[in-house]
Order: sequence, then structure tokens, then C-alpha cells
Amino acid sequence: MIQITMPLNFLGTVYREIRQSLVDMGEMFGLLEQPAEIADKPGAPALHVAGGTVALNDVHFGYDPARPILKGVSVTAQAGQKVAIVGPSGSGKSTIGRLLFRFYDVTDGSLTIDGQDVRDVTQDSLHDAIGVVPQDTVLFNDSIYYNIEYGREGASRDEIIAAAKSAQIHDFIKSLPEGYDTMVGERGLKLSGGEKQRVGIARTLLKNPPILLLDEATSALDSETEQEIQGALDRAAEGRTVLMIAHRLSTVAEADQIIVLQDGEIVERGTHADLLARDGRYASLWRRQQAEADAA
Ligand code: ADP
Ligand code: MG
Repeated sequence: MIQITMPLNFLGTVYREIRQSLVDMGEMFGLLEQPAEIADKPGAPALHVAGGTVALNDVHFGYDPARPILKGVSVTAQAGQKVAIVGPSGSGKSTIGRLLFRFYDVTDGSLTIDGQDVRDVTQDSLHDAIGVVPQDTVLFNDSIYYNIEYGREGASRDEIIAAAKSAQIHDFIKSLPEGYDTMVGERGLKLSGGEKQRVGIARTLLKNPPILLLDEATSALDSETEQEIQGALDRAAEGRTVLMIAHRLSTVAEADQIIVLQDGEIVERGTHADLLARDGRYASLWRRQQAEADAA
């Protein structure tokens, strides 16, 4: 169960917005509690996206000041590039996503989008610019139609169907007796992990954000389903800047840049070919995963 400590001013908002925030916070990063509220600067302008270059500039951060999690991370995803972030569990990968959304503020350094510090723009505009496909998409107890439409409320039926087609879930939906009106979620039709992820991808495609954050988007799936989803993810990545946090390296080999994070520091960076040639941590992880795949 997602638990959120809600600030008082939050209670005045309509139900749907609360539901939306619950999902934004909980779904994306498995946050158990909403962090202390971060306010927009007075008169902060909206983020102006021109291409969507994302930069981390010597980022330092710890949830607890006594325990640094990111220790000077610098990486730039140029507009339209795909940057993969790999590394052991607990190394700080998802934390980078949370900082990009400004769920927390850095202790030192900065994160910028097209040169604008995320602390200087409105959070609404920041959240509009970034789409997330998390490890597990949370579905509402509502129709499939609404579950996709939630990506951009007020989208037309044609747009919703187009998003579902791109996410390769349309044919499946059409095969259901009630089609797009099928109720899903805990009290409705239970979808498989792969189907849920496709609904999540359709939702994100409908939002059409210039920046896409994939946080272990396929790691809960078996590798066969992962391959099926990969096509939908590739479609979603087209024309966007993509930060891709991944556990299974088979999904990152095509990235423009791979960074290997360990204990909050970048220990290696380069393309897949660079990193194999370097024969370091990435290469040994790669060999281990290849051997596991061969054994399976
Ligand atoms: P990764 O995604 O690489 O597995 P995370 O970025 O989620 O790692 O977490 C990095 C470290 O920060 C971990 O040690 C984790 O326990 C800690 N951490 C994550 N979220 C919080 C939080 N909300 N409060 C305190 N510590 C946290
Ligand atoms: Mg993580």
C-alpha cells in the first residue's frame, strides 16, 4: 500500500488530482512517503524545453546528510540521446530520477534541462516534460481507456487508440469482449506484467514528453516478454531524450552512452563497445549475464 503524508493544502484539490499524485509519486519510484514539500520559487517560470538536453553537473545528494548517496555525478544526455544508467542495486540509479523530478533537492551541484536548473522552474512544467515508465505500472480500478487517457486527460479517442497501437497493446484490447471499456486493476481484469507495462507505455506515449525516464521498465518481466516490450519501448524512445535505468544489460547495448554507477560514483562510461574493450566492471557484468542467459 502506498502511504503518503499529505500536506494540508493538498486536501483541497479534487479527488482525481490526489489520485494522480499518488500514482506520480508512488508508481514511479516506489516512494513510501512523499518527501518534505519542495516549493516553487516565487514567480518561477515554466520550463522551456528546446530539444531536451539533460545534464547532471557534479551532483551530490543524500537522503540523510550523514549518508551521501550520490558523490559527484556528472553526465549529459544530449537532446535525443539515449543514456543508460547501470550498476548494482542501491548504487543510486533511481535517486537520479527522483532528483530530476525534484522530489528532492541536491546538496551540491545541479541538474539542468536545456540549461535551466530544475530548482528554477515550476514543478508542474518539469513534471509535464518528463514521462516515466516504472518497473511496475500501477493500474487504476477503472477502464483501460481511462488508464491510458490518464497520460493526458482530455485526449481524443483517436489519440488514445494511436498510443495503444504504438505501445502494441491495441490488438489485445480489441480482443477483449468489452474492448477499451474493460475494467482493470485489483477489482477488474488482471493483466499480465507485460500487458500492464504496455498500458503504461501507451499512457506515456499519450503524454508525449520530450524526456523519457525508464526505471527498470522491463526488469519485472521474463526475458521473452521483455523482448516483446522492447519494440514498444523503442517506439516510445524515438525523438526523445531517454534516461534508461536498467538491470539487464541486453537492453542497454544500443545506448549512445552507458554509465556504470557504483556507490554513488560513476566508475565507467562509454558505449557498449568501449566498455567491453575496456574489460572492466561493465564487461564482467556483461559476461556474467551472457553466461546466465546461455544457461537458462
Ligand atoms: P538503485 O535504484 O540504484 O537500486 P536507489 O537510488 O533507489 O538505488 O537508492 C540508493 C540508496 O539510497 C539505497 O541505499 C537506498 O536504501 C537509499 N534510499 C533510497 N530511497 C531512500 C529514501 N527515501 N530515504 C532514505 N534512503 C533512501
Ligand atoms: Mg532503482
